[in-house]
Amino acid sequence: MTKSPVLVTGGAGYIGSHAVLALRDAGWPVAVIDDLSNGTRDVVPDGVPFFEGSIADRALVDRIFRDQRIGAILHFAGSIVVPESVDKPLEYYANNTLASHALTSAAVAAEVRHIVFSSTAAVYGEPERVPIEEDDPKQPINPYGASKLMTERMLADAAAAHPLNYAALRYFNVAGADPDMRAGQVGKGSTHLIKVAVEAAVGKRDHVAVFGTDYATRDGTCVRDYVHVTDLAAAHVVALERLIERPRENLVLNCGYGTGLSVLEVLDNLDRVVGTPVPRREMPRRPGDPPELVASNRALVETLDWNPGFADIETIVAHALEWERRLLGRSEG
Ligand code: UDP
Repeated sequence: MTKSPVLVTGGAGYIGSHAVLALRDAGWPVAVIDDLSNGTRDVVPDGVPFFEGSIADRALVDRIFRDQRIGAILHFAGSIVVPESVDKPLEYYANNTLASHALTSAAVAAEVRHIVFSSTAAVYGEPERVPIEEDDPKQPINPYGASKLMTERMLADAAAAHPLNYAALRYFNVAGADPDMRAGQVGKGSTHLIKVAVEAAVGKRDHVAVFGTDYATRDGTCVRDYVHVTDLAAAHVVALERLIERPRENLVLNCGYGTGLSVLEVLDNLDRVVGTPVPRREMPRRPGDPPELVASNRALVETLDWNPGFADIETIVAHALEWERRLLGRSEG
């Protein structure tokens, strides 16, 4: 397989930076575009061409495609905070749907033929059953999920009309950090359980909240499918390789392990890793949280040669914790 350079949009962000590492580890040349609205320049490895700017800047994207001889795109750039999407829906449709339209248009014009797109379990809304299959109803309950679903549809229509194929990878709960600590989650003010919990573990917060203890689940707290960011990044590389091998096929795949863990189970694992209990506080339910979100990953496992190496919550929280300790050492994050 000829390895033409891959443009990673949002490559200075959490998942994008791990994808850059995974691509390079697999021998792919990489370039990154990121507007640094939520990313950090220093997680982009030395030697990777970096372009600061928006994927909606057509002149910039055209120039990158041409000068870097881009053959494919891993598209992570976008806005990702669900409650913010409710307050600022037009911003979400602009940053997610319209910007993806600009990127896809530029790709078609430049004959860039493969796009791996960062989608989300939020496209399903409140699922009628778990584990969720890809064909299950898509009824997003917030603008974030809707903006991603619209982009999926746009890619499907564009792929039917142009020499282009795509993979939409629907992420469940992404956590952890690169096992070699080359990257991790940096952003301040994260609301995600594992990030918040490790911040509490290193003393950046005085406790971790447990939102809702009266759900109809095994211990009353919400159940989620937590996937290690390095395994998720690896799925992007194998999805890209499949798109190149089979240019007429598209992929829509859930990305999770197919295993649900409750909030309390996650926190118990963290306590074990830390060696002492991290202070918890029981709080009322957070609006909009479905009781249980677990992926069926049958399609992912059957379609791609994906061999997750970190499908274990203790490893996920251990890597997240180690990264958080390093951030503390650098007084960042
Ligand atoms: N959660 C929690 N405390 C926190 C953050 C999250 O109890 O500080 C719960 C949240 O209510 C949900 C689960 O942990 O049930 C996962 O939430 P997260 O925000 O990490 O991801 P989401 O599933 O909302 O995308």
